[in-house]
Amino acid sequence: MHSRRDFIKKTGLVTGATMVTGSSNVFAQAASEWAGKGKLQLSYKPYTLQLKHAFNLATSSRTTTPVVLTQLAYNGIIGYGEASMPPYLGESHETVLKFLAKVDLSRFEDPFQMEKILDYVDGIEEGNKAAKASVDIALHDLVGKMMKQPWYKIWGFDPANTPNTSFTIGIDTPEVVRQKVKEADPYKILKVKLGRDTDKLMIETIREMTDKPLCVDINQGWTDRKMALDMAHWLHEKGIVFLEQPMPKERIDDNAWLTENSPIPTIGDEAVQRLDDVLKAHKVYSGINIKLMKCTGMREAHKMLTLGRALDMKIMIGCMTETSCAISAAAQLSPMTDWADLDGALLISNDVYTGTTIKDGKVMLNDKPGIGIQKI
Ligand code: MG
Repeated sequence: MHSRRDFIKKTGLVTGATMVTGSSNVFAQAASEWAGKGKLQLSYKPYTLQLKHAFNLATSSRTTTPVVLTQLAYNGIIGYGEASMPPYLGESHETVLKFLAKVDLSRFEDPFQMEKILDYVDGIEEGNKAAKASVDIALHDLVGKMMKQPWYKIWGFDPANTPNTSFTIGIDTPEVVRQKVKEADPYKILKVKLGRDTDKLMIETIREMTDKPLCVDINQGWTDRKMALDMAHWLHEKGIVFLEQPMPKERIDDNAWLTENSPIPTIGDEAVQRLDDVLKAHKVYSGINIKLMKCTGMREAHKMLTLGRALDMKIMIGCMTETSCAISAAAQLSPMTDWADLDGALLISNDVYTGTTIKDGKVMLNDKPGIGIQKI
């Protein structure tokens, strides 16, 4: 017992709903410490992702993204998870750590009771979707490792069907945009952020350099539906594949009108957070953008995918700025999607895992169990 207390003192590790600080090998030590206990033990630590380029959206700009890395240990096996908190979604290091401190998984002795465990986590408090996703992903990774299979296999998806991922180009000056288009050379499809008064300049600058298919994400930046339809026609002529969240999510009639009249499909992103938003998005958008950080993780993402498919909607799997942990978790669903936007880990300079890779622009799943990642 003494040595355990010393270990806790030395590493700053507290048992139960645990906060871990210090070096990453603390996690490995914690696993052996917990081996054989037959209880789920959650640990977590805050981390800050450094972006390679400042990321400019219609309404914000940033160079870092706060994340929380989680681990779920059970009988010596460890599942990895992650919460990513871009500021506009309202979660932060503080809120995620506060939420995770309330999560007591020691009451569960069977990790395979995922519905029960994740219903408990979801019921602790409203919101906190990224925090919930960090537990969900870690549980999926753990259970996949116990089954010795990756999730795309457990779900029965064909890894050959993964889509190309888009590479995101933020709103910027023509010089920076040209630089990013060069950087995006290996990618088959580019996702361009629009929604300011430079939209046509952005597209023209890119079209001077490449004929690749482009998709555009307006991030609710268009406010006039006639202008939005004019832009949709102009973008159609420029070879744009779809429009993501063209107008504010509250403008349901305007988005539905645009979807009905637009020559290219529309995708709801900000408007589609969780499972019960999928039915609401039907006929308002042509498709939905599923993101683990919006929908509390892989369990609900899989349900959204199934419902969206049943409604004959287009399905896109997206991401925040994330490490290869959350990206690889999302990639497990990608064989059943029309489009993937899983470049989050490519935009950061301090990833802590290897996992899903991108080869010639295509999402590549590996044979490793769970979500298929390893620590760097
Ligand atoms: Mg979006």
